[in-house]
Amino acid sequence: MDSHTYPVTRTDAEWRARLTPEQYAVMRNHGTERPGSCALLHEKRAGTFSCAGCDQPLFESKLKFESGTGWPSFNDPVPGSVETTVDRSYGMVRTECHCARCGSHLGHVFEDGPPPTGLRYCINGVALKFEPAA
Ligand SMILES: [Zn+2]
Repeated sequence: MDSHTYPVTRTDAEWRARLTPEQYAVMRNHGTERPGSCALLHEKRAGTFSCAGCDQPLFESKLKFESGTGWPSFNDPVPGSVETTVDRSYGMVRTECHCARCGSHLGHVFEDGPPPTGLRYCINGVALKFEPAA
């Protein structure tokens, strides 16, 4: 993908073995899941959303909100867990976001979210694993 080296790296074969075909398409090929297709969209329990690629905690349920877009949306990630790049695909300029530990694509960041950050992390649910709080 790029020359940036992440703490967790895997070969393409390892990624294909670890991820489902849909997860692979989203996380390793910058795909986008169909809106409303992921059950995590409706997850309302307290807990943590982790990266499906490396298990790093990425988002806390308390910063999840209903954006009406059909994708799980968060106000802010766990500090240091998510990195962003500028995505100029499809003739748009968007902020892409990915896991800081394994580099897997997660979704995009928009500046129309609720306070306090005003940010909306629009995330593909398949890229996440949910762990309910104990
Ligand atoms: Zn990861």
